Amino acid sequence: MAVDIILAESAGFCFGVKRAVDETLKIQKKYNKRIYTLGPLIHNNDVVKHLEENNIFSISLEEADKLAEDEVIVIRSHGVSKEVIDRLTDKGLNVINATCPYVSNIQKKVNKYSVEGYNIVILGDKNHPEVVGINGWCDNKALITSDGTFETKLPNKICVVSQTTERQDNWQNTISSVAKSSKEFLAFNTICSATEVRQKSAYELSKEVDIMIVIGGKSSSNTTKLYQICSENCENTFHIENEKELDIDMIKELKHERIGLTAGASTPDWIIQNVTDTLKNNL
Ligand code: SF4
Repeated sequence: MAVDIILAESAGFCFGVKRAVDETLKIQKKYNKRIYTLGPLIHNNDVVKHLEENNIFSISLEEADKLAEDEVIVIRSHGVSKEVIDRLTDKGLNVINATCPYVSNIQKKVNKYSVEGYNIVILGDKNHPEVVGINGWCDNKALITSDGTFETKLPNKICVVSQTTERQDNWQNTISSVAKSSKEFLAFNTICSATEVRQKSAYELSKEVDIMIVIGGKSSSNTTKLYQICSENCENTFHIENEKELDIDMIKELKHERIGLTAGASTPDWIIQNVTDTLKNNL
């Protein structure tokens, strides 16, 4: 029986992640020594390994404090707070800021409007580095909601932004909560179009297939969201990091005439290709 393996129209590395990875590899070549990233450059173990082979290592902020002057440290696409950038720069480190321009735009907005007296609301995961970083551009005073609900009464003058990987339905819930209780508010839908386009094509494809495979790091928030969206349409949806996690025997037992593939923003093309080849060669 022929198996149809269909890749979602939009899947894999987004502009910001590709930019950060390319830039970091370029910088390492330029300095030709061990360089560092503040936290893993992207949420994908295979790519982290590839970077280590290229003398690029992830370190924590505490470890960065112990680096010698002029060592090179790269800020990843999620961005960080102003305080962190200042701390590294003050230590004399060579800081390369590879924050995605879309995230920098949110940081600038949050900074501008908090200075103008707006209370900042962020829709997102309060523990995600992108959200922690954005909050750091408004003195860590933002109200953070994961789904548009709030435990406390909202203040009157509000500026709302979103983590770039959020779902549109969460954004709509947030706006309607804010509109109900706040008389004056500004709202910037900062959900990245790369995320939206990827989510839409995963949604469409998962309605049409027997099995849906979502490829990406287990700790990648945008991959996890793709998995949630696909699971709503296709009960046989699986989240894997790479081709080694494919359970071919189990797939064979399920109806598998049409298999859909999608991948998170931190999944490189070569992993998507390996998954496609493994399915083709074994089904
Ligand atoms: S998902 Fe969007 S905002 Fe996030 S790194 Fe990629 S391009 Fe930038």
